[in-house]
Amino acid sequence: MTTAEEWVAGFTPRPVHDYLDDTVTRFGDRPAMDFMGKVWTYAQLGDLVNRTAAGLQAMGVGPGDHIGLCLPNTPYYSVFYFAILKIGATVANFNPLYVEREIAFQARDADVKIMVTMDLKLLYDKVEEVRREQILEKIIVCPMADCLPLMKKTLFGLFKRKELADIPKDAAHIRFHDLLTKGKTPKPAAIDPETSIAVLQYTGGTTGVPKGAMLTHRNLSANIEQMRDVFEKARPGQEKVLCVLPFFHVFAMTVGQNLSVILGAEMVLQPRFELKAVLDVIKRKKVTLFPGVPTIFTAINHSHMTKNYDLTSIELCLSGGAPLPVEVKEQFETLTGCILVEGYGLTESSPVACVNPLDRTSRAGSIGRPVPGTTVRFVDIEDRNTDVPNGKKGELLLNGPQIMKGYWKRADATAETIEASGYLHTGDVGYQDDDGFIYLVDRIKDLILCSGYNVYPRMIEEAIYQHEAVEETIVIAVPDDYRGQSPKAFIKLKEGRQLTGPQMKEFLKDHLSTIEMPRDFEFRDELPKTMVGKLSKKELVEEEAAKRAAL
Ligand code: AMP
Repeated sequence: MTTAEEWVAGFTPRPVHDYLDDTVTRFGDRPAMDFMGKVWTYAQLGDLVNRTAAGLQAMGVGPGDHIGLCLPNTPYYSVFYFAILKIGATVANFNPLYVEREIAFQARDADVKIMVTMDLKLLYDKVEEVRREQILEKIIVCPMADCLPLMKKTLFGLFKRKELADIPKDAAHIRFHDLLTKGKTPKPAAIDPETSIAVLQYTGGTTGVPKGAMLTHRNLSANIEQMRDVFEKARPGQEKVLCVLPFFHVFAMTVGQNLSVILGAEMVLQPRFELKAVLDVIKRKKVTLFPGVPTIFTAINHSHMTKNYDLTSIELCLSGGAPLPVEVKEQFETLTGCILVEGYGLTESSPVACVNPLDRTSRAGSIGRPVPGTTVRFVDIEDRNTDVPNGKKGELLLNGPQIMKGYWKRADATAETIEASGYLHTGDVGYQDDDGFIYLVDRIKDLILCSGYNVYPRMIEEAIYQHEAVEETIVIAVPDDYRGQSPKAFIKLKEGRQLTGPQMKEFLKDHLSTIEMPRDFEFRDELPKTMVGKLSKKELVEEEAAKRAAL
């Protein structure tokens, strides 16, 4: 077996767009993207990338410039992503659901002067407002209608006209089609993969306000090669990858888009998660690979619609971003006959750091083993320095060529997060067994300090999931006069099920110690989720704090 050091020694970093150029040469006539039934081949994608890159150069864009992408999963995302990289500039990903204030904060922090968005009011109006505040100088606007197949385009023109924005005709507003007229190919740009920042990826990180993780071409190409090794059984030129996770998120950018590109796979684009549309498209396209987050697999498992669909084309799913409950994995595998494995990563590791074997030896409840070229350590969570032995819980530290260069303009936060030895503090607590499989127990910041003991909310959540009426749960810490803090559980039940707090408590008696037993259970119709679909504690913590402040 190759050691991490040997893997890194044999790895040659490449500019990320080289991978697309390779695929255009190898699989030019194969479909690259399907959006709502309209298909682009790799040759067409390559041509659009080249023309867009030439158009950006004509605008004076080049190395050192940060170009914002505020786009849902449409073909425009990949066109601009690769075009920006090809001319040596940097992609700054923006969540298209952000409100204006969030876009403004990130654009200012990331020194973004040009933003790419679409002509949909919902997106454009926010971006235009940020431009009016003089944070942005220019907006590149892409027409929604041109992504659609003829029939849908006509219907869109008839019925959705009100959803389109009025775009002024002036130098601050550049139309995508004008950009395409400036030349067929860009002038080659000098890119040093080791140092050149390919993507500025904003994240809350382990603490504090959003920060831009600087991901170099080396970081991203390392993760691309690591994924190539992990997905060694995938069939080049034949896979169809469901891209429902938003590309602005690092997991989808790498495992949805970049992995598809190296495999010459067809990206089946979905602009948002809507269950029926996802089931329809899996059936229509016979999707084979499906990167997702646990809440998506849960939603498919529990919907009454699912039984009407044949989902057996799906062969492999990778779940990441949040813990994958064991029952969710098992139920989804039974439903589709596929293999659903769990992986782990974070923005700062471009993102994939650990993954289970992509076969039946994957271990439920584990995030798997480090991907090739990656080493891990577990250190004491108090001093964050002393190594702890196998089987003992500690903070997970990662090292490998996919670890970011640092946080943009935040040398202090970088120094706190990356050690001089190169190890990244993940802020996640877990342990490794003697076979190298890693189990996460929680994030340091989510630990509950209850009567002096560390209580892991995730352990409590797992116990709650064992109850067959439960669909989703989140456990948070609430202040407790006697114990300091104690756990509170929020629960969403499956459709048509009923349960009371005392019944849940009775059930949990066999699964939890008294110290772990939630003091309070609250049942809700919906639980908050982040924009990528992870269950989110933040809103509940804030609600609880507001409730207490009002007492
Ligand atoms: P982000 O940088 O937004 O992608 O968030 C990264 C964080 O998501 C990690 O630090 C973990 O806390 C969490 N995470 C990612 N994958 C998993 C997983 N498989 N199990 C548990 N937590 C995960």
